[in-house]
Formats: sequence, C-alpha cells, structure tokens
Amino acid sequence: MAPAPLHILHVDMDAFYAAVEVRDNPALRGKPVIVGGPARSRGVVCSATYEARAFGVRSAMPSAQAARLCPQGIFINGRMDRYLEVSRDVMAIFRSFTPLVQPLSLDEAFLDVAGVERLFGDAPAVGRRVKARIREELGLVASVGVSFNMFIAKLASDLEKPDGFVVIRREEMEKRLDPLPVSKLWGVGPKTDVELERAGYRTIGDVRRAGHETLVRKLGGLGAHIGALARGEDVRRVEPFWDAKSIGSERTFERDLSGLDALERELLPLAEDVGSRARADAVAGRTVQLKVRFHDFRTITRSRTLESPTDITREIYETARGLLRDRAGAKGARIRLLGIQLQQLAPAGAGQGLLFDQDRKRERRLDAAIDALRQKLGDEAVVRARTREKR
Ligand SMILES: [Mg+2]
Repeated sequence: MAPAPLHILHVDMDAFYAAVEVRDNPALRGKPVIVGGPARSRGVVCSATYEARAFGVRSAMPSAQAARLCPQGIFINGRMDRYLEVSRDVMAIFRSFTPLVQPLSLDEAFLDVAGVERLFGDAPAVGRRVKARIREELGLVASVGVSFNMFIAKLASDLEKPDGFVVIRREEMEKRLDPLPVSKLWGVGPKTDVELERAGYRTIGDVRRAGHETLVRKLGGLGAHIGALARGEDVRRVEPFWDAKSIGSERTFERDLSGLDALERELLPLAEDVGSRARADAVAGRTVQLKVRFHDFRTITRSRTLESPTDITREIYETARGLLRDRAGAKGARIRLLGIQLQQLAPAGAGQGLLFDQDRKRERRLDAAIDALRQKLGDEAVVRARTREKR
C-alpha cells in the first residue's frame, strides 16, 4: 500500500444557520428551531437544530411538511447577512492555519494542512484546534473529518455529526467505508443510488470488491468514478480558488457604440455566455466585473460584490447593467468594447441563500431551459427577448 499521509481536513459546521440563530438568541437554546420559509408558505427548510431533526425535519424539506412533523417547531426567517458575517469568521479561523482552504459553501471547507505540522502539529491535532477555536471564539460547533484524501475526509466529517471528530487512516479505510451505503460515495444522488442498487451494489464494500473492469462494463464512466472512490483513490487537490479564477466574456464592436440602450443590449449576450459557462462548470461567482473600453482605448473596470454567489444570467446581467449606468461617463462616450467577468468563484451551491428565494428558482429553470437549447442549437440560436426585441 502506498504511503498516504493524513493531511486533509473537512470541516463542516453543525446545523449552521439554526446554530447561529440559537447563539444570537439564547432563549432558543434546546428548542426545535427551523430556519426557512414560514410553516404556511411554499418555502423550504434551510437548516434545523438537532432538536427539530429529532422529529424528522431535514434541510430542503417543504416547510409545511416540517410543520406537520414538528408542530412545536419555531420557524425563523433566514438572515443571510448574518450568516455571511459568521461564515467570514469561520473561514478566517481556517485560514489562520493554512492558506490552502477550499470553501464548499458558507459553512464547510477543505483544508490541506500538509506543511503546517511544525507550527500546529499533525493533521488530527490541527483538526482538534480548529474545532476548539470555533467553539471558543464563535460559540458554534463544527464536525471535522481527517483523512488522506478529500473524499474520505468529507465522508468522515459526516459520520459522527453533530460535534463529530473522525480520523480515517489508509489502513482503516476498508473497515470504516465498506459497510456504508453507496449513497455516501461522492456524486451518487438518489437516481444513481437506484441504478447502483439495481446493478447489485448496496454498500461501498460491494463496489470496492467488484473491481474496475466489472464496474466499467456495467456502469461506464460512473463505474470508474465510484470504483476509484471506493478504493480510496481521489486525486483532487485542495484549491483555494475563491479569488483565483474567473469566467469572462467580452466583445469588440464593429463600430463604436454609444447610448445606454445600445450598450445594455450588448450586455445580455455577454451575461448569458458567462452564466451558462459558470453553470456548465458548476461554479458560482460572488463578484461581477464590468469592463469598458472607450474609442481611444482607455479601459476601465468596475465591479460589484453580491450578497451570495450567483450563476444566474439575469443577476449577472442586472449587476453589470447597474455598473454601466453608474458609470455616467459611459453614457455619452463612444465605446469599442464591453466585457463581463464573474469572479471569486466557488463551487455552485455555496450560496445557500438561494433556497430562500422563489424568484431565483424561476430564473434557474429559465437558465436551464436556455442552456439545453443552446447545447442543441448552438450559442447563437438562442437569444433572450431583451436582445431580440431591439435587433
Ligand atoms: Mg453544515
């Protein structure tokens, strides 16, 4: 067996939004608190304390169903601003141990702690310290998984929630993983779950023992993927890429354009392009940057940071349009190029705030429909109304 040093932590806050509410209002302590849409609305549960979970309440469950399961539940509307603030504090604690922090959402991240041993001790020691500091400085509880790769660290953080601390070394991997259901494998959703069960794989052990060839023959690419995970092979690295990458689209016009109306019309296809690429890559960005190049090649950029990351075309468009309008000088000027860049990317889903918002659900459906059409017909074939009406 190749040496596989423990160096990855996965830290996941327990019942994050609900825990923040309880911490901010101690009268809620020990109560079944449910953060999400009101019980009588069509909203969904975003987070619930373990007291509420004891009644079967779960994230993403319709609020009405949660209210039936737990009639004494205390429903609280989410305060995204507050959670963002606390999330920054949590991430700051992570980054005080290593720069290699990859957030997966507001309340969880991977940390690569290889190389900080002399400062803070080995990976389990760092995991203990992170947990302790979150408790002492923030009054919150996190579960920590420690392992030799990202997949197993993430799985480990979930095994003994809440307040979990699980270390899985290479030599104990099979013992810990084999009995677990296949749904614990990264990328296996409810649909794949059924597919695997039908193929005769119920546990991770079933998958591991099947061997590569059989898995590929039965399940194709999916088989190769889950086979590798089940054998503890995961070659991904922790990438602290919130600031490092961006997705951009720009266009130089055949003739210089002037007038807000003409310029805004050009922004939508740019936003469409950026949004669909973000969605294809399963990332969302927190900052939208507008680039304007004037007829004399003078170039400016202006950006705005959003409350939560987005991959929604309309939000990217509206933000860029706001920046264009704020830029009074652009109105009368002759402009040769416009560009939009989506920055501070994180894996999609990081903006858990979207669960709060029915409007965003509609936009998401529209985006998905347009993405599908573009794939079928080519990018140029599908143009939203805002561009078409004036062309
Ligand atoms: Mg969490």
